[in-house]
Amino acid sequence: MSAWERRATVPVDVGGVTVGGTAPVVVQSMTNTDTADVDATVEQVRQLWAAGSELVRVTVNNKPAAAAVAEVVRRLLDMGVPVPIIGDFHYNGHILLDEYPECAAALAKYRINPGNVGTSRRDENFAKIVEIAIEHGKPVRIGVNWGSLDQRLLTDLMDENAQRDDPLDAEHVLRNAMVESAMRSAALAEDVGLPHDRIILSAKVSNVPALVRVYRQLAPLSDYPLHLGLTEAGMGMKGMVSTAAGLASLLAEGIGDTIRASLTPRPGGDRTEEVRVAQQILQSLEIRSFEPQVTACPGCGRTTSTFFQEMAEDIQTYIRERMPDWRKAHPGVEELDVAVMGCVVNGPGESKHANLGISLPGTFEEPKAPVYVDGAHVTTLKGEGLVEEFKRILDDYVARTYPSTVAAAPAESVVSASTAPSPID
Ligand code: SF4
Repeated sequence: MSAWERRATVPVDVGGVTVGGTAPVVVQSMTNTDTADVDATVEQVRQLWAAGSELVRVTVNNKPAAAAVAEVVRRLLDMGVPVPIIGDFHYNGHILLDEYPECAAALAKYRINPGNVGTSRRDENFAKIVEIAIEHGKPVRIGVNWGSLDQRLLTDLMDENAQRDDPLDAEHVLRNAMVESAMRSAALAEDVGLPHDRIILSAKVSNVPALVRVYRQLAPLSDYPLHLGLTEAGMGMKGMVSTAAGLASLLAEGIGDTIRASLTPRPGGDRTEEVRVAQQILQSLEIRSFEPQVTACPGCGRTTSTFFQEMAEDIQTYIRERMPDWRKAHPGVEELDVAVMGCVVNGPGESKHANLGISLPGTFEEPKAPVYVDGAHVTTLKGEGLVEEFKRILDDYVARTYPSTVAAAPAESVVSASTAPSPID
C-alpha cells in the first residue's frame, strides 16, 4: 500500500525476515535489559515481539552477555516467539563472537560499529567479525554513529578540509566522515568475502536536519538496505516527535528499509512504546498498516462538552481490544479508517472520507449524529446508547468487509450496506 516509491535495494535475509528489496519496511527495537539476565531479556523480547517488533536487538557487551544469547534464543523459540535476535557489538565483538560460537550461531545478524572496533588493529578486528559472519552465514549491519565515529578518519578529513580554499563547515565534514566510514567498511567486508546481499548500513545522528542530510548523502552511493533511526532521540513527546520528523522526511523520499525509534522510556516505563511509535510513523505515511486508524477532530468552541473526545478515545480503545481477534479472523482490517467528528462543519465531510464515520452534534445543533458507511449516510443515532450502537455498526462493518478466514463468533448485526436504509445524501 506504500504511497512512496522506495529506493531500489538488494534484499537481505535477517533470520527469515527480509530487509530491503520489495519487502515492507521492517519495524525493529532494542532491549534495555542486562542480556546476561536471561529471564528479564526473554520477557522483554517477548513483549517487544508481541507489540509488533519484527526484529529485536540485544546488547552483547561482555562474556556473560555472550554466554546468555543462545539460551535467550532457545527459550524464545520454546515459547513460540520466533523473532530474529540481533547482537549489538562495540569494542570487543571480534573477541566475543570468536570465544562464544553458540552466540555467533544463535544471532540472526551482527551490528558492527566501525568507529570502535579498535585503533591500530581496526581493520583486522573488523575483518574478524566479518569472517565469523561468513562462517555462520549471517548478515551484518555496519552502523556508524556520530557519537563514536572513527576518529582517525575524522581527523584526516578535518586536516584535508583545513587545506581547502573554501573549507566546509564542521557538520559537513562530520557527515562526509560518516558516509566514508560506512562505505569503506562495506567495501572491506566484501573484500573479506561477505556477500553483497548480507550488508545493511546505518548512519545515525541525534539531530533531525543532520540525520536527513547524512542519509540523503549515503543513499545514492549503493543499493545496500538502510536502517533508519534518530539516535538518542530522547524522552516522551520530544523523542517521538523528533523521531517522526526525521524518519518521515526520509521515508517520504523513499529512503529506509528498516526503522527503529530510539526512545528513552521513563524509569519503569513501557519499552514497547518504541514499537508503536515506529508503526505509527509507517502507518501515518501509508507505507504499512498495523491497526485501524481513528480520525478525530481536535474540537473547538463549537463543542462545549468533551463527549466527542471521550467517544473517540472509547472507540480507539475498543478497536485495540478487538484487534487480536480481528487480526486473525478478518485480514485487512488494519486498513480500516474510522472518523469521530465534533460538529457539522467538517463532520459529515470527514466521515464520508472514512470507511465508517459519525458526526456528533456541536453546540446549538440538533442532538443527532448521522453515521456514514463508505461515504453514504446509512443511519442517524441519538440519545443514550449512541456509543454502543456505533460499536455494533463497527463490528458489523468489520465482519462484512473483511470476511472471516477462521470460524469466529458472528458479530451481532445492526446495520450493513444490505440492511441499511438507502443513502439519503
Ligand atoms: S469539526 Fe467542528 S468541532 Fe471539530 S474542530 Fe471542526 S469546527 Fe470544531
